[in-house]
Amino acid sequence: MSAHAQMPGDGPHPGRLRDRVALVTGGASGIGASCARRLAADGAVVVVADLDEDGATRVARQITAAGDTALPRRVDVTDPDSVTGVVTEAAALRGGLRIAVNSAGVNGPLSPLAELPPADFDTVMRVNLYGVFHAMRCQLPAMADTGGVVVNVASIAAHSGFRGHAAYAAAKQGVLALTRTAAREYAGHGIRVVSVSPGIVDTPMVTSLPPGATDGLLTAVPLRRTARPAEVAALIAFLVSDDASYMTGSDHVVDGGYLAK
Ligand code: NAD
Repeated sequence: MSAHAQMPGDGPHPGRLRDRVALVTGGASGIGASCARRLAADGAVVVVADLDEDGATRVARQITAAGDTALPRRVDVTDPDSVTGVVTEAAALRGGLRIAVNSAGVNGPLSPLAELPPADFDTVMRVNLYGVFHAMRCQLPAMADTGGVVVNVASIAAHSGFRGHAAYAAAKQGVLALTRTAAREYAGHGIRVVSVSPGIVDTPMVTSLPPGATDGLLTAVPLRRTARPAEVAALIAFLVSDDASYMTGSDHVVDGGYLAK
């Protein structure tokens, strides 16, 4: 049995992304880590970038142990210089930067809007919205000669009100706006820009919430369960592949039916 046989869906497509350089922010954990593993299994050379350098190193080691290729790097997506550094490094690898997945994100404290301290609103916006802006600002020029694909990780919170998540939802709506704008601006360079909107995914971001925090949400999920990170990674692996060559500017929901009304 191959090392990748436990993945859901139709599993990896070895060689589909052969030798393409991919940068995954938030690659140390959850959706980003799963995505890094999946893109590497599909043949990409993956730069696993995260604020958590040890976590990025662990994920890169797992990928290498599976016989695929990855390099860990520290990045703080709130710091434009830090982002420039890691994108420049990825772009200098053979073949140049062809794939970017912007998954770094934080939840912020759960709080009704009127009780949310401005500093907390600011923190969430700085990582979840400005972080995507800083990343794309470097990634798009790096791909301008070769073409490429950017996938931004948004959320169902960009599509529906969520009590206690005002800053998070505002940032994720902003991510959809950045995605659509960049798709129009860079299509002429052969760059596709899309987003994904996961529902509730079984990652540390969700398991660290107070007990019961997702109970009400789960009853509204027709599939009656959380998503596995690999189910989001499978969608992203498709979106960055040539099989999705006519898709740009679009958002792709993977939510167990939550938004189906
Ligand atoms: P996670 O907490 O497992 O992973 C997030 C990663 O981002 C962590 O490794 C963290 O170190 C990194 N990170 C945080 N701040 C950073 C910064 N300033 N610079 C670089 N890296 C930073 O969470 P996850 O669930 O995998 O979330 C990944 C993305 O998916 C986020 O954008 C999140 O908003 C989104 N999302 C998650 C869910 C869910 O239910 N888990 C649902 C919809 C969308």
